[in-house]
Amino acid sequence: MKTETNNTEKKIVYLLERISQVFKVLQWELAKKRKLTPLQIQILLFLKNRKQKECVPSRIAEELGLTKATLSESISALEKKGLIRKAVSDRDRRFNTLSMTLSGRKVVKELSSVENLFERYLERFNEADKKNSLKFLINIITSLYFDGYIRVARLCCTCQHFQKDAINRGLHFCSLTGRELRTEDINLDCASYIPLSTKKGGAQLCY
Ligand code: SF4
Repeated sequence: MKTETNNTEKKIVYLLERISQVFKVLQWELAKKRKLTPLQIQILLFLKNRKQKECVPSRIAEELGLTKATLSESISALEKKGLIRKAVSDRDRRFNTLSMTLSGRKVVKELSSVENLFERYLERFNEADKKNSLKFLINIITSLYFDGYIRVARLCCTCQHFQKDAINRGLHFCSLTGRELRTEDINLDCASYIPLSTKKGGAQLCY
């Protein structure tokens, strides 16, 4: 390895970056065929992963950390390419919601093939290692959220209904659903999520 890596933190950062690069390169190769920019890909993936009522420009800008002008430029480009369309929101007629057209869905399906490939790849690894990695990654994201580096986390551990260690050490509870939250049950995108304030009490790590 050419890079100077003489401590654990450096090695972890380096390796996370390498994994992320592989992911981006594979996605980018697919997107290039469709003449899409990385930001346009992010917007399409946002629309794929969110409920219709959440697909409003203000929400997308907040979660992706974009200015209104940058977002509106990309939305116009995606509309021109026939991949998304605007519609007036049923809940509030002042706002447009965005949805994917049939062509948009086809592109997203292609992009998802990269995620699927990674998922299949991970299947070959040991369950205990995967569970520990999941805990570690959940803790990193939670910590980044409470330290203000991520504006929207949407993880159980950053939710007002989350009750840490309520059942046992490391076995949590959701006060809304009344269900225990084992590591594999931690939600990454729950519809009932209510964010905990990042100002109160500092980080509440999951594990
Ligand atoms: S409401 Fe959803 S996100 Fe919040 S703790 Fe319960 S399951 Fe997790």
